[in-house]
Amino acid sequence: MTHAPSTVAPSTSPQLTAIRGEIVHFLADPTHDARALEHFADGVLIVRAGHVAECGPSPELLAKLPAGTPLADYRGKLILPGFVDTHVHYPQTDIIASHGEQLLEWLEKYTFPAERRFADPAHAAEVADFFCTELLRNGTTTAAAFATVHAASVDALFKAAHARRMRLITGKVLMDRNCPDFLCDTAAAGDAESKALIERWHGRDRLLYAITPRFAPTSTPTQMQLAGRLFAEHPGVYLQSHLAENRGEVDWAAQLYPEARSYLDVYARFGQLGMRALFAHCLWLDDADRRRMAETGSAMSFCPTSNLFLGSGLFDLQRARELGVRVGLGTDVGAGTSFSMLQTLNEAYKVLQLQGQQLSAESAFHLATLGGAHSLYLDDRIGNFAPGKEADFVVLDPRATPLLARRSAACTTLAERLFVLMMLGDDRAVAATHVLGEAA
Ligand SMILES: [Zn+2]
Repeated sequence: MTHAPSTVAPSTSPQLTAIRGEIVHFLADPTHDARALEHFADGVLIVRAGHVAECGPSPELLAKLPAGTPLADYRGKLILPGFVDTHVHYPQTDIIASHGEQLLEWLEKYTFPAERRFADPAHAAEVADFFCTELLRNGTTTAAAFATVHAASVDALFKAAHARRMRLITGKVLMDRNCPDFLCDTAAAGDAESKALIERWHGRDRLLYAITPRFAPTSTPTQMQLAGRLFAEHPGVYLQSHLAENRGEVDWAAQLYPEARSYLDVYARFGQLGMRALFAHCLWLDDADRRRMAETGSAMSFCPTSNLFLGSGLFDLQRARELGVRVGLGTDVGAGTSFSMLQTLNEAYKVLQLQGQQLSAESAFHLATLGGAHSLYLDDRIGNFAPGKEADFVVLDPRATPLLARRSAACTTLAERLFVLMMLGDDRAVAATHVLGEAA
């Protein structure tokens, strides 16, 4: 005779499943709270109807489960919340690893020609499918992604994510100047198309819309103003853009907006800061900018592989944290060089080492999970295994490669094993990814 725990339905339900393995997740930010990490060496995650019902030690929970509850056995592997990629470009999937340029030339030479192809909805659908599959193959279950200037590119990505039941934030790029004619919209058309897309997709299942001015230099003041107004008129909708990635870009923004105190101030003047405002890179800011981001609840996306690849600069995580800014981690594919959040953490560690800062394994995995969710204001729904959360998780195999197995075998602490996984792991270390409890 077994008894169901109070949070689990007392009878066998086809919607009830259990997942067994070594469980690691965060209850808070380990930078501020040493007890933030919760670890069950032999743990069970109980999922009901796609949500976490309970998470705890295996013997105790298994004894309480109704007979016949399906059990996925991942013993020997680590179960963590699904990764949250807070900045990525799906239309740039095919230009990853393109040689030789820094930001502004990169856009002209590689990005804009690649994005032109998304005028064709069949091409957009094919890339969107590959992109979502690739995210899941890497353990990423939530992403904030750029589409292109074409409204149909947004439809394609939302459809692909919807079919996989992923949490996905995306939006039509707004770009009405300083870009090739074939990618140029107008302030009025961009505004109307964004409104229609918000109505069509925002809040549908797990999908969320982001108003997406590419960056201040490629929008006219009129377009920037309309984007800010749209953001104010739609509570719950996101705004995503780029900020202070490259010094040439910062100078250009200053020339185009001479009245602004700083690059960040351009966005501020057009009402684009606030909760759910998300800015990639944030490398060339001063403390006044960082304070303003913290005060307004705006978030930064730290994109280390991209910042190194394009030679853009080094993100100051410590200063952002000291000033209380929300920070998530982004791959920024295709300027980023990997879809893997493990590899992104590897490069994050090195970017911080170059500045005399140390990223602990605990802080790193928090950044890739609950921290990212917090930066997106989604930490009430995803990011850890608290009861009621959406049951997205990744299963990592510490023995996925001969070198990982050998190095992991020599580890004596959990922190050491996590660090080895983020330095040596990539998609090969992802044994499985589950979305709303189900294997993807
Ligand atoms: Zn980007």
